[in-house]
Order: sequence, then structure tokens, then C-alpha cells
Amino acid sequence: MRLAIDPFRLRKNMEELAEFGWESTGGIWRESFGAADQAAKQWLIAKIEAARLHARQDAAGNVWGRLGPAGPAVLVGSHIDTVPAGGMFDGALGVVAALECLQTIREQKPALGHPLEMVAFSDEEGAFLSFLGSRAAVGALRREELAEAQNMQGVPLAQALAACGLNVAELLRARSTPHAIRAYLELHIEQGPRLEAAQIPIGIVRTIVGIAAYRITFQGEANHAGTTPLAVRKDALLGAAEFALQVDAWVRSHTLGVVTVGNMDVLPGAFNIVPGEVRLALEFREASSAQLASMEQAILQIGAEVAHQRNLGFRAQKLSWDEPVALSPAIIAVIRQEADALGLKFQLMDSGAGHDAQILAPQTEAGMIFIPSLQGKSHCPQENSRWEHIEQGAQLLLNCLLRLAGSESAKA
Ligand SMILES: [Zn+2]
Repeated sequence: MRLAIDPFRLRKNMEELAEFGWESTGGIWRESFGAADQAAKQWLIAKIEAARLHARQDAAGNVWGRLGPAGPAVLVGSHIDTVPAGGMFDGALGVVAALECLQTIREQKPALGHPLEMVAFSDEEGAFLSFLGSRAAVGALRREELAEAQNMQGVPLAQALAACGLNVAELLRARSTPHAIRAYLELHIEQGPRLEAAQIPIGIVRTIVGIAAYRITFQGEANHAGTTPLAVRKDALLGAAEFALQVDAWVRSHTLGVVTVGNMDVLPGAFNIVPGEVRLALEFREASSAQLASMEQAILQIGAEVAHQRNLGFRAQKLSWDEPVALSPAIIAVIRQEADALGLKFQLMDSGAGHDAQILAPQTEAGMIFIPSLQGKSHCPQENSRWEHIEQGAQLLLNCLLRLAGSESAKA
């Protein structure tokens, strides 16, 4: 017997979850540890219990639902927190689909070789600290970063945790017992335009890109905008602008990656003063570790050359460096086979966005399934996916879970 998810229940649960944090201005905002996120977690716990799974919340606020005996579980999940004015699918799809899969298995009772567990990780979006929940679960949090973490409004993490009955000391002990996770699967929207453009319903993720962030400063000289001749100026903004354009051109022609100058602070910042200093926020991403390193080298070289030509000072401060993460070849093979068995077209691809799967990957066999995002939109109210693709993705997730949990019905 082939098990099938219930697409109506899946859709109804997606729509119910979307009510939490819905804003009249459009979009959904469930900041982790905020009121809407807490209410959504309570809703999820009630759903898990109604599905007759064992529900629990850990010290990081992660919500778990378990089926089967003790021992290493096949884990499936994602996150339900959102960015401000976000959409109803990012993260939520992976959690609601995980619930649907476990509920279907609970009802149909196929014989399983291993237990199954679902999870909604806290603060994937990094309102306080990116991947806080999944990092807590694998024991990858540091005390110092917890002490410094605060949200956009300046609320310290400790205060937000306290409002939820949690605390930092406990959080550091939230780690699941080592080897408690047998494998990890995550269904997610692509958040980009490639699957829709190729008219392919399923993406199988090979690698989650590496991400580097730099604070770059061009130092010039502030001076009178009316009396200082162009030829003798040390205009920091012109250097920063030229840098941004040259870096973009280099990355386009040499890599498959992306580079973004997301912010520029222009000082002093007036109509009538030559810009004396510009600080810019630079981020770049690549799926290949070697390419990420050569991007860094080229970017720093371009910055130094532009500064030299324009008589400016140049400083580059590395803020963060996360290596690309390869997902499990064994899980990729399982997803491929199950997609073939369902007659679903798929494409192997890299993820340009970060996901909890990259935190789990060093600890266990981790895999990700993507479904198309309409017009590639995400992190905005227009984020959307076809229900047909959602059902196909959830069914594929179920079939992969059955395989990984060693179910006899997976072979039927
Ligand atoms: Zn997400």
C-alpha cells in the first residue's frame, strides 16, 4: 500500500498558520520569541498533540513532535518564524508538511525500522541570531554571541527569552543527545526563479552556498563642495561607487556566485560637502569553497586599486565567513529515486539562501527538497507557490521519510 498525504488538511494547516502575525499592511511577521511566534508555536503544539504525536518544546523554544520508540530518529522540519512583512511559505511549508507526513504515518501505521521526529526550529531568520534553534540543537552556540544578541529594536535576546519562560543558560544545554538524529530532511520553497523558469516542480539541493560578509571603508577628505576643484578632491563616495560596479562586473564574469553592496553610510552626508568617508556593507556568496576564496581575493584587490587611483584610504574588516555546505549524497540519491518513482521531474541545484539543513549537515545525513516560488519572490508579501507543487513536494517528502525510516511500505 502506498501512503498518501491529505492535500486538503495540508492546505488548511498552511492557511491557519498564516493567520499568526498577519498584518493589515500586507505580509506576515512572526519574529522569533515574539507574541505572534509564540502563539503559532502553541498552535503547532496543539496540532502535534491532536495528531497523537509526542510534543515537546526544548530550551531553545524549538517545537518537536515524535513518533516511535526511543533511539536515533529521522528528523524532518524547518522553521515558522518569518522576516518582517514576509510570506506564508518560507519555513512554514517545511514544518506543516512535516506534520502532515507524520500524521499520515501515525494514521496509516506502516511498520517502521526507526523513529520519526518533526521540528520547528527557533529564529532561523536571525532576528536575534541566525539559526539559533538549530544551532542550539546541535550544540553549536557560543556563550559570547548569546550575550551580545539583540533584535532590530535593541531588545536583548535574554529579555526576549525570559518573556517566553526561557533563559540563556538553559539554551546552551538544549543540545539533542549526540547521535540522536539519524538523518534530516527539509522541504522548502526555492525563493528564487530557476525552477519556475525551467518548469520543473522539484529541486534537489546539492550545496548550500557559502556566505562572506565584510565592512569596507573608503577614507577620503571632507571639503567644500563649491570651492574644491574636482581634480584635487578625495571623494570617498566615488571610490565606493566605482568599487561596487567593478566588483559586480568581476563576479559576473568569473564566478557563478553573487555579490551585494547592501548599504552605504556616507559621511558627513550633506549636499554641500565632498564625502569624506564611506562605510559599505558587502556580502558575497558562492557554492564552491575555492571560488568563494578567489572572490574574496579579487574583491580586496579591486578595493585597494580603486582606493589607490582615487587617493583614498581603504580598510576591509571581515565580519563573517560561512563555508559552503554540501548535503548528503546518500540522501540526494534517495530523493532522486523517490522523485523518479513518483514521475516528478527534478533538477539538482544549489541553494543561494541559508537553511537550518546547513547546521544539521555536519552532524548527520541532511537533505533538502525545493518546490518552485512564483516569480522567484520570497521574504515579501507576494511570496507564493502553487498548491499542486506543494502537494507534490509533501508527497515526495513522505516517500523519502518512509525510505529513510526503513518502512516496508516504501518498497511496495
Ligand atoms: Zn526559510
